Amino acid sequence: MNTHFNDSGLELLFSTRRAPASVLGRLIDTEDTDALFSAAMIRRREYYGNKIYTRGLIEFTNHCKNNCLYCGIRAANKNTERYRLTKPDILECCRAGYEIGFRTFVLQGGEDTYFTDGILCDIVYDIKSSYPDCAVTLSVGERSRESYKKLFDAGADRYLLRHETASPGHYAKLHPSVMSLENRKRCLFELKDIGYQVGSGFMVGSPYQTLDNLVEDLLFLCELKPDMIGIGPFLPHKDTPFGDFKKGSIKRCLNLIAILRLMFPNALIPATTALGTIAPDGRERGFTAGANVVMPNLSPSSVRRLYTLYDNKLCTGTEAAEHYGELKAKAAGLGFEVVSDRGDAKALRTE
Ligand code: SAM
Repeated sequence: MNTHFNDSGLELLFSTRRAPASVLGRLIDTEDTDALFSAAMIRRREYYGNKIYTRGLIEFTNHCKNNCLYCGIRAANKNTERYRLTKPDILECCRAGYEIGFRTFVLQGGEDTYFTDGILCDIVYDIKSSYPDCAVTLSVGERSRESYKKLFDAGADRYLLRHETASPGHYAKLHPSVMSLENRKRCLFELKDIGYQVGSGFMVGSPYQTLDNLVEDLLFLCELKPDMIGIGPFLPHKDTPFGDFKKGSIKRCLNLIAILRLMFPNALIPATTALGTIAPDGRERGFTAGANVVMPNLSPSSVRRLYTLYDNKLCTGTEAAEHYGELKAKAAGLGFEVVSDRGDAKALRTE
């Protein structure tokens, strides 16, 4: 196979996994998406063939003590009806998901102080005891090292915590002053140190984001070396201070997925719900740009509309676990195979 790319910057990124900031900045907005996506597809095939891994997403609480300026479940949003799933609810989601074929369950929620270490460890322990062949991923925000360790010891395998932006100045524009990028980074490095498979990422097109910020995000990820990288377009939520900002660009998002695939060929990169929300074929386009994970929603349908991070979030279409067959067929039409597998990250080859 001819693996030479006419663009010297793309060729460099393809062959060495690294490129100077100026090249990364240019590739983020490149019009030659055919070349970028073909390069990404070669790397994806080398590591993961045509496989797409699934994770059953359980959005188990929309209570949150934080006030991230972009997020619809922020504490200050009094228009959100709040809910919490019980342990039996969560176990029922896992049972249904296991039957469909999911071998990873992602427990995601706001930073809800109700879920103490004791309560959450008990839930993780019970899921792992009932489904020992499955991975449990947590995505419950910033906690202490001690808390992360307890959850790991209870059986949690993976942790998702987006850094959101690697620029301290930009971080301060997206979050209240009680939150800091420093603490976010502390959490990420501690999670790695404890032994979790760690996922990070950022929103594309968040308010005040510059092209340089995106390059900084890529460089920060080189430092962190995450196993999973989740990115998606920023989408406004009407009841937040950013309700009138414009949404992120799908083109930048897809280009960034391809760039991430080239920089982190062994990473697990989801085609996110936000990508599926911004365009009806967004997730499928994510797969062709290099994404290899999809996270269908397993939450009980009664609460799905309440976990609204942004306006018009998908909650009843093919992103829902019930439409798994449809998702499989769409992926197959593009040459991909949705598999029933834990989907752990492959080791990076260092030839
Ligand atoms: N509380 C946990 C945390 O902070 O990591 C997990 C839940 S949080 C709501 C999950 C992710 O949703 C965030 O990391 C953020 O990137 C994304 N998100 C929140 N609001 C969004 C918006 N308006 N548009 C796009 N993504 C958004």
